[in-house]
Amino acid sequence: MYILAEMNDVVHVKPWYFDQDLLNVIEDELNKKFANKIIYQLGLCVALFDIKEIGNSSVLPGDGSSHTKVSFRYVIFRPFIDEILVGKVKSSSKEGIYISLSFFDDIFVPFSNLQKPCRFDEKEQLFIWQYDTGDSVHDLFIDIGEEIRFRVVNEVFLDTTPTGPPKKNDAMTITSVVHNKDEIKCPFTIIGSINEPGLGLLTLSSRASFSSTKNLQNDNQSHNCKNNDYFDIVICGGGMVGNAMAAALGQENLFKNLKIALIDTESNKEKYQNPQIHHSRVCALSSTTIDLLKSIDSWDFIQQHRFGEVHNMHVWDGSTDAFISFKKEDGSNLAWIVENNLIIASLTKNLSNFKNVKVFYSNKIEDFKQNDQAIDIKLNDDSNITTKLLIGSDGGNSFIRKKANIDVLQWNYDQVAIVATMKLANKTQNFTAWQRFLSTGPIALLPAIWSIKKNMVNNLLELNDEEFVHKVNQAFVIEDFKNEFGSGIENLVQNGIDWLRNVIPKGSDYFTDRETEVRILPPKIASSESRASYPLSFLHSNNYVSKRLALIGDSIHKIHPLAGQGVNLGFGDVICLKQCLKDNLLSGNEIGSWNFLKDYESRRQRQAFPKMVGIDALNKLYTDYEYGNSLIKTPLVTARTVGLTLSNRVIPVKNFFVKQAMR
Ligand SMILES: Cc1cc2nc3c(=O)[nH]c(=O)nc-3n(C[C@H](O)[C@H](O)[C@H](O)COP(=O)(O)OP(=O)(O)OC[C@H]3O[C@@H](n4cnc5c(N)ncnc54)[C@H](O)[C@@H]3O)c2cc1C
Repeated sequence: MYILAEMNDVVHVKPWYFDQDLLNVIEDELNKKFANKIIYQLGLCVALFDIKEIGNSSVLPGDGSSHTKVSFRYVIFRPFIDEILVGKVKSSSKEGIYISLSFFDDIFVPFSNLQKPCRFDEKEQLFIWQYDTGDSVHDLFIDIGEEIRFRVVNEVFLDTTPTGPPKKNDAMTITSVVHNKDEIKCPFTIIGSINEPGLGLLTLSSRASFSSTKNLQNDNQSHNCKNNDYFDIVICGGGMVGNAMAAALGQENLFKNLKIALIDTESNKEKYQNPQIHHSRVCALSSTTIDLLKSIDSWDFIQQHRFGEVHNMHVWDGSTDAFISFKKEDGSNLAWIVENNLIIASLTKNLSNFKNVKVFYSNKIEDFKQNDQAIDIKLNDDSNITTKLLIGSDGGNSFIRKKANIDVLQWNYDQVAIVATMKLANKTQNFTAWQRFLSTGPIALLPAIWSIKKNMVNNLLELNDEEFVHKVNQAFVIEDFKNEFGSGIENLVQNGIDWLRNVIPKGSDYFTDRETEVRILPPKIASSESRASYPLSFLHSNNYVSKRLALIGDSIHKIHPLAGQGVNLGFGDVICLKQCLKDNLLSGNEIGSWNFLKDYESRRQRQAFPKMVGIDALNKLYTDYEYGNSLIKTPLVTARTVGLTLSNRVIPVKNFFVKQAMR
């Protein structure tokens, strides 16, 4: 947009400035002479950049001023052809629209370069883009004062030096078209175009929704949708992931001129009342997620209420007691445990701060139609929304994914997760998470989740509180399916590592001491409340995107909670999608373009899918399927015993796992 021009000039310094610093006076004189002036075939002078050389000064006879030859560089506004700029619509006429960059007003987009089909409304003196959705035509007004993105397609210089009667030339033709009303000759005009995807108004409004656009400025909570509303981005589903997406887009400066809507079936979720009651649905959040929450100003709210810190983790095998314990080398947290409803409250509370985000509670997307340009959405109250990009964050049973005919890879685990809020027998500060892999499925404390075989779940749910607590306490200590061969293998591996440490003293830094790893048992549970159960399944969407549509959160991936990664993956989608959107807009592409969507899909699939497969494999490795006899069990038990023991004692392997697990 700007260039540096090397120029020479003779600066006249009046005698009354002789007592002042010559450099300052020359700078002032050059700015007085050039700033805000057009130089023919060069551009608009903006400001002096630097002075390269000052020659000798001379005083001419009959003139008291000094004359100094100066070489300098000046900043010139001269956008290059094909450059994409953003300005504001200044006015419109039948010939086209006029755009201002505040410091430069002579930008003209002729009728031939406007989006088609369009018409000029004589009454409103505005252009209207007649946008065809396939079913109906929306009148989208190019309003005065709106921000508009355009491509520079031509530049026209006109020599306005008074040299006699005006000559007829090409430049004059364009200039007289641009300024035919007042016949002002314009020395430098930029010709723009908005007739391609990604260009045009940053915020489009159809007249039907104009009043709601105005409301956006002061009230963005819980609205009713007006018929034929337009939003640049619509997010379907305000769970943890959808809310985080809305907050991440709302907070980003680059998107402040976009209209973003969040639609959720439930009523206002902001209220987080009665922190005395502990919610039984909690998530272990990774450090990447905490960084995201901090960046969207949600973490403070969580800190003001409550969260648990995980410093250490103990994981062991119910069959052989082979175990691994880990913590971060720098002593920082492995995870943060936060109640789901507190996470949602921290995110929704924040949404009211973002003027570009509008939330529609108690609304449901019932239908939508995709086309190349946009998606037309129908809500349960029969109102319609048109959007350039629909983001589906509507959970594992995603209507959006199904309606877009996106297939999934899916299976149900023969397990159900029981969650409960547990009260410890003794008041103690607990920073350790425990997980024991039983042959019926893993049981974990912090968060408290017992994944158990389907056929056993009713027995547990029907128990009274005292019996249930007894079962949980037992599950961490009683002998599970005992595999003598596996226990023997554990001893063998431990002895092997001890032998290696002695034989290769130099390599001893790579191994931990057998004795330093003390096995600690979880604290005793005294009582439990709010027991609930959730069927467990694996789901991976074959595609993360479709025409004008991107999916995030559980709508594309559901995994076993044993690694506490589900919502962390969803928050990872939010980070990735936001970055792709930014990259896309900065390179001048339109929101929801196919290139952007494919970019998101390939970036995110590469990150998410390997993690999911790893977690699924871990569950399969530890769960006792009905294989019939111990012939099959034994090699599995052996493999995991060797794996756990090695991972626990070989430091680089252990560090690798800590890094992978906690991202
Ligand atoms: C027992 C258990 C323990 C877990 N523990 C952990 C853990 O420790 N760590 C972790 O990272 N993850 C964990 N998870 C996973 C985590 O809970 C999920 O990944 C997360 O809740 C998914 O959030 P979401 O926003 O994608 O979907 P959801 O929470 O399902 O939200 C979807 C939202 O969309 C709305 N909606 C649906 N359809 C429509 C529609 N048509 N129109 C408008 N709105 C609609 C719904 O009302 C809902 O609000 C656990 C899961 C389970 C079952």
